[in-house]
Amino acid sequence: ADLFQPERPNAQGWDLHDPVDLEEIEAARAPFRTHHWTGAPLIAGKPGDGPSHDVKNPADPSDIVGHLREATADDLNTALSAATPWSADAGERAKALNRAAELYEANFGEIFALLAREAGKNPADAVAELREAVDFLRYYAAQAPRLTSPARGVFACISPWNFPLAIFTGQIAAALAAGNGVIAKPAEVTSLVAIRAVGLLHEAGVPRTALQLLPGPGSVIGAGLSSDPRIAGMCFTGSTGTAQRINRAMAGALDPSAPLIAETGGLNAMIVDSTALPEQAIRDIVTSAFQSAGQRCSALRMLYVQDDIAAPFLNMLHGAMDELVIGDPWDLKTDIGPVISEDAQSDIRRYIAAAKTDGRLLKTLPTPTGGHFVPPSVIDLPGGIAALEREVFGPVLHVARFAADEIDAVVDAINAKGYGLTFGMHSRIDDRVQAVCARLKVGNTYINRNQIGAIVGSQPFGGEGLSGTGPKAGGPHYVPRFAASETRADLV
Ligand code: GLU
Repeated sequence: ADLFQPERPNAQGWDLHDPVDLEEIEAARAPFRTHHWTGAPLIAGKPGDGPSHDVKNPADPSDIVGHLREATADDLNTALSAATPWSADAGERAKALNRAAELYEANFGEIFALLAREAGKNPADAVAELREAVDFLRYYAAQAPRLTSPARGVFACISPWNFPLAIFTGQIAAALAAGNGVIAKPAEVTSLVAIRAVGLLHEAGVPRTALQLLPGPGSVIGAGLSSDPRIAGMCFTGSTGTAQRINRAMAGALDPSAPLIAETGGLNAMIVDSTALPEQAIRDIVTSAFQSAGQRCSALRMLYVQDDIAAPFLNMLHGAMDELVIGDPWDLKTDIGPVISEDAQSDIRRYIAAAKTDGRLLKTLPTPTGGHFVPPSVIDLPGGIAALEREVFGPVLHVARFAADEIDAVVDAINAKGYGLTFGMHSRIDDRVQAVCARLKVGNTYINRNQIGAIVGSQPFGGEGLSGTGPKAGGPHYVPRFAASETRADLV
């Protein structure tokens, strides 16, 4: 298939500027405003007796979203014994995945409510996330019949809380499209939306032995899956450190041919030179650094502004930040919701406080009380990316200035960090953009636009170096990696 001529259109989604769509969303999610979900492992066998706990809304911990029973080591064993590849032929598999896409769309009210109340996603993020999940299902379904190689066996899919529907679904859909069975472990904090999604996949026709779900602690379920020889491959999105641990565990126990497909962290930079259009650059910086409360691997962490425009440019940026609405993600006017947990909140707040003590906090905002809110903040980091110690997974932007003749040194410093996920550049000098891009080692490059929100089928997403193994999600090489012998036959 030609990458630029996808044969199936992307999901249409909902337009939050259209009163008709808005009314539809309000009506569909209203019944779930106070709903209480009950979730448990979905295994093809007798469930164990795992501990249970309340699931709380990160914007308002007094809002109990539901109740979750966790998977145990016994459940893991039951699931591994029951797991089978998906023996249906490719056409049938594609049909079920397409049917699942329809069911996801039909259940949008409940899904938006879960994304808001369990994961802290505002309406814009929830709409984008559901669209991406549906796009993954249809894109990978379309590839199933074109694979020439059989399935590998049973895949483990371990997914993050920051895209609890889209990345969760993408991993599973790719493994299933290639005919594998799947045991999925969602991030613990977003298990309810994962349980709902698997319910819809089962309803669409995916057999219960071919798709099981084990919501539970990484130390039990994740570690168990990574070291069990019955697993034929692993798909993981999360931190670089966890990917390295999984890799070591797999090496000690699994067939050496079992692939690890990992998408991990990033220290993503943007360069704004003095020819950039300031209003456009600022809009894109605010989106890239602060949307989803900065909880994206792709988010902008390190902004380089050319020194001769830096002072007025940063003033404008701070003014734009004053317009951000921080609050309840259920609310349509909310730009920035909470971060995922109290631990995340205190960690990021501590980081901001330390910058303040050092006199490097250039801008921060007031936040509402009650939930796990963190103020979007700008921190001066004259040393640039070399001085950036770690990925702070929240709405924190670092800035440094560079002189016109330092641009090569900036590129070298970005490469030297070893990550390579996203990069953004705002400039109107084409040759300069080309020269920078030719030297940078990153997965996704965005010019004169924001650097988040890759679109399935047209912007395959994934990094290099410490940022991931590839192949890129939502691109033509992804599903073949889940088949027994990788083939490019699906490309011709
Ligand atoms: N695909 C997402 C984006 O482009 C980021 C995924 C992630 O955070 O892992 O914004």
